[in-house]
Amino acid sequence: MTGKTLLHVCCGPCASACVPRMRAAGRAPVLYFANSNLDTVAEWRRRLDAARRLAAAEDIPLEVEPYDHAAWLREVAAGRENDPEQGERCMRCFRYNLGKTAAFAAANGFDGFTTSLTVSPHKPTPVVFAAGRAAGAGFVEFDFKKNGGFLESTRRAAALGLYRQNYCGCEFSRRASIAARANAVPSVREIAAYMRMGAAQPEGELLKRVEALRAEAAEAWTPKCVFARFPRTDPVWTSPGLAKHLEGCGGVYLVCATLGAAFDAFLRRKAAASGTDALIAQALGAAGVERRLDAAEDEIRQELADGETLVSRYSPGYGDLPLAANGDILSLLDATRRVGVSMTESQLLAPSKSVVAVIGVRKECA
Ligand code: SF4
Repeated sequence: MTGKTLLHVCCGPCASACVPRMRAAGRAPVLYFANSNLDTVAEWRRRLDAARRLAAAEDIPLEVEPYDHAAWLREVAAGRENDPEQGERCMRCFRYNLGKTAAFAAANGFDGFTTSLTVSPHKPTPVVFAAGRAAGAGFVEFDFKKNGGFLESTRRAAALGLYRQNYCGCEFSRRASIAARANAVPSVREIAAYMRMGAAQPEGELLKRVEALRAEAAEAWTPKCVFARFPRTDPVWTSPGLAKHLEGCGGVYLVCATLGAAFDAFLRRKAAASGTDALIAQALGAAGVERRLDAAEDEIRQELADGETLVSRYSPGYGDLPLAANGDILSLLDATRRVGVSMTESQLLAPSKSVVAVIGVRKECA
């Protein structure tokens, strides 16, 4: 075993695959959490917590670089906000975090440093290596994605219960990830869940129909969403069931998501075509509008203050919250003008694949 090698930890899951490989290569890893690229303190804390859990599970030290996102924005992202992922901004970002790692390694007598960034299939190894070499002397070239490294990271992270994020780290990557998820057509598995197939999945002719309708739906819908934050005292929250659900919440977000009027025409065409197509189209719409709401929640999380968290969604028609609340929420959000959603005489939403929801905001206990 050689002396200590500093492992830059981009996140706990990726680092979980690196530690055993470094040990197998005769190196004694010490974790170094240097991630000022992360867009919020809350996200930084979540990923740091995962790194701490890993350090405890592996019984190795963890060092932490102070968080300074303003400096990262100034030195890395300024003028590069619209770069695509894997572009120049990312190269600078790698160099920035690895530069901090190289400086800490040099100042504290480490034999060398390396990074967990090479675990990710989205981070080309030659680009990471180039950034590591440019960051300072002593970079050790570990290609951790080799021999199933990424798969191993997902398995170990699940076994250790580590938080796994769904975007790279900065606000620009978060926005791109949300937009991609918001507009993507639901997977076959998601659609099957709304077809009430239990654990079964579509096969044969049914699978072909699901795939065909997925392709058509992508042309037929225009997912949109609007949301805003309100104080807890508004009259919409007078239902006892909702009041109980919102216990401890200091505010609420109201959300309205829709797949648009053209999707209703698609549903009518499929209903006229066959019972099977009608079932698939309805399931596709239900999964699609839920997916848009999920993306809205991700957007809302970006607005939360430090220590705030969201409780689960609650919609009119659920529990004792009457359907009439649909109208209150639409008018508070000005949703008819902004995203084209209105309430029918029977208090349902039009277009039909639209949902409104109340999401409470709770302050996490320290
Ligand atoms: S997308 Fe990821 S690697 Fe690229 S700049 Fe943002 S945080 Fe850094």
